[in-house]
Amino acid sequence: GTAEFPARAPQRLKVSFEFFPPKTEAMEHSLWEAVKRLAPLHPTFFSVTYGAGGSTRQRTHDTVVRLKTETGIEPAAHLTCVGATCGEIDEVARAYWDAGIRHIVALRGDPPSGMGGKYTPHPGGYANAAALVAGLKKIAPFQISVAAYPEKHPDSPDADADLENLKRKVDAGADRCITQFFFEADDFLRFRDRAAAIGIEAPIVPGIMPVSNYQSVARIAGLCGSKVPSWMAQLFDGLDDDAETRRMIAATVAGDLCRRLRDEGADQFHFYTLNRADLTFAICHLLGVRPARAGGVS
Ligand code: FAD
Repeated sequence: GTAEFPARAPQRLKVSFEFFPPKTEAMEHSLWEAVKRLAPLHPTFFSVTYGAGGSTRQRTHDTVVRLKTETGIEPAAHLTCVGATCGEIDEVARAYWDAGIRHIVALRGDPPSGMGGKYTPHPGGYANAAALVAGLKKIAPFQISVAAYPEKHPDSPDADADLENLKRKVDAGADRCITQFFFEADDFLRFRDRAAAIGIEAPIVPGIMPVSNYQSVARIAGLCGSKVPSWMAQLFDGLDDDAETRRMIAATVAGDLCRRLRDEGADQFHFYTLNRADLTFAICHLLGVRPARAGGVS
């Protein structure tokens, strides 16, 4: 049918994979297993998160550099500006440039838990992500990605103010906007239209979180302003003790979301892998993103 085989020529979708820096040897092992499985999909980049306040500064750096040496795929280092002076942040960025890292995911970060929840800029620091982007561009011609919120960031008074903030980040030099995770395709599509309408030309890349543990995602989503639709609760209902079925459903849900977005013209996807390959690999397969030998759409 036409839904499966759209008239436009099939093009290879671009994908990117996000990891967090491992804390223990066991976590390190599972990260590199995931990397080994996902690298043959030729992602545009791997990215590595940064503990707000710099708690993972060294581990993020080491993971990013090792990804570059071992896979040859261009890594992106996340960097947040919360709780640090501009000088400290600039130093981290310069060390990346010196190590051959050319792509930064520039973020504000969140206040450490227990600080009352409200963000206040460091007195000698970058005030927000837009200021960080401008600062990074002064240091070196990094490629820069920034965060976007189809359902609005919880700190933002309204959706228009949030979109203006995104525009400031792009105007400051960001090349790509990666969204917070979301579960309703229409939320993303409306957001993409509104971004285009105010003149944001950088690509808006959907951030995909394959969910196999409904309870924990509902908790995280509450913190970052994403809503978890009730149909998802229903899909996972009764499976608390059945991890295997939950994972199959997770692949189906995220696969359906990605295919809908692709049909609406999305050609790049960023996966929150949580350092595991299996769900992301399966969804990429559904999207025709496959290792070269397996005859993927190219
Ligand atoms: P900003 O773009 O600075 O904006 C935050 C909010 O403040 C927005 O609502 C904005 O509208 C508002 N705002 C900003 N400036 C102004 C202003 N001048 N006036 C009025 N309102 C303003 N966190 C980590 O700690 N480490 C990570 O590695 C990490 N990676 C992430 C990756 C992605 C793809 C995403 C989507 C998020 C990530 N986060 C990470 C979370 C992020 O740090 C938080 O969502 C944080 O609360 C906001 O960061 P931001 O860069 O979007 O901030």
